[in-house]
Amino acid sequence: MDIHEYQAKEILAEFGVPVPRGGLAYSPEQAEFRARELGGQAWVVKAQIHSGGRGQAGGVRVCRGAHEVRDFAAGLFGRQLVTRQTGAAGKAVYRVWVEEASDIRRELYLGFVLDRKSERIMIVASAHGGMEIEELAEKDPASLRRMTIDPATGLIDFQARELAFSLGLSGGQIAQMVATLRACYRAFRDLDATMVEINPLVVTGTGDLVALDAKMSFDTNALFRQPRIAELRDRSQEDARESAAADHGLAYVGLDGDIGCIINGAGLAMATMDMIKLAGGEPANFLDIGGGASPERVVRAFRTVLADANVRVILVNIFAGINRCDWVAEGVVQAYREVGMTIPVVVRLAGTNVEEGRRILQASGLPLVTADTLADAADKAVAARLKSAA
Ligand code: ADP
Ligand code: MG
Repeated sequence: MDIHEYQAKEILAEFGVPVPRGGLAYSPEQAEFRARELGGQAWVVKAQIHSGGRGQAGGVRVCRGAHEVRDFAAGLFGRQLVTRQTGAAGKAVYRVWVEEASDIRRELYLGFVLDRKSERIMIVASAHGGMEIEELAEKDPASLRRMTIDPATGLIDFQARELAFSLGLSGGQIAQMVATLRACYRAFRDLDATMVEINPLVVTGTGDLVALDAKMSFDTNALFRQPRIAELRDRSQEDARESAAADHGLAYVGLDGDIGCIINGAGLAMATMDMIKLAGGEPANFLDIGGGASPERVVRAFRTVLADANVRVILVNIFAGINRCDWVAEGVVQAYREVGMTIPVVVRLAGTNVEEGRRILQASGLPLVTADTLADAADKAVAARLKSAA
């Protein structure tokens, strides 16, 4: 789960990361009020959406005068801001953050991620911040520093100092960097985060470190024990289809194709999407119905997939281990009747109770297309799609 920049800054500040003073606004008038409240001559007005790349997309601007703050904010509210990360639909701006402008001398990159290979939290840093990490990795890979943290010891000061020196920091900045790194690490660990990113972390005119941007993501499976974080969820920033599916315990990701997929297991779902592409089709979604899928759950999965108007054919691919083919088959039959299916449905079942599953499909008398292998299923789905499009 992602949160907004201003929320991440508030959290990180509590752990000891230096951030600029700022205030949140829900209207242009409030933005102006925030600027006057903060005082000073220049402010940065920042659209709060769950995305990076806002600066380049016109979502961040330095304003000189409270009226300019209000006018720029007025242009942001209610807009769908399209960044390189949002996709063409963009994300709606309902909140704006107004903060004091910093005098930037250097921009650094600092990220904490979960490194699945080493099973540790990894720090990624670069002396050249401001750019997105993907861009950095492409244009200046040599500048990237990586360091993993042993969970038994936590982040050791020696490691933190070494990193600070390698980024070209000196004097009092070293102690500030060590404190910032420790704070980020503790926040990451204590709050079940999966990502903490400060980009840019800047050196100001007075030689101090300040986090000008902050991003945090959290492990959704741990939200039950992080009530404060769970409360920060902002549905306006989520894909409506995906969050509705998540509410029903389905892992769904909407895509641009027209072959709807209902599959159990993330690995099989990925493989099926690959096979569809190989057969010349385009998947409309990723959907993992999970283990122990009851007929009701399968029906819900059908409804979720069919909510996408682009879907021309549905491919059900189940390799039942924990799941039972007979339950899934019952779900398919039930869904077919309940939703009044008008498009072709291709079903491939394998594993636990497969004979009973096939028998249920056959006995239903419904015009289902059955397939034996994954490749067969993908071919039949693409063929059925072509026919239904014709
Ligand atoms: P994004 O990463 O979404 O583009 P940032 O918060 O990183 O948004 O802002 C983009 C750029 O705007 C930063 O790289 C920085 O150069 C500038 N900026 C952001 N906040 C401030 C600030 N408080 N003072 C001065 N410049 C800022
Ligand atoms: Mg940024």
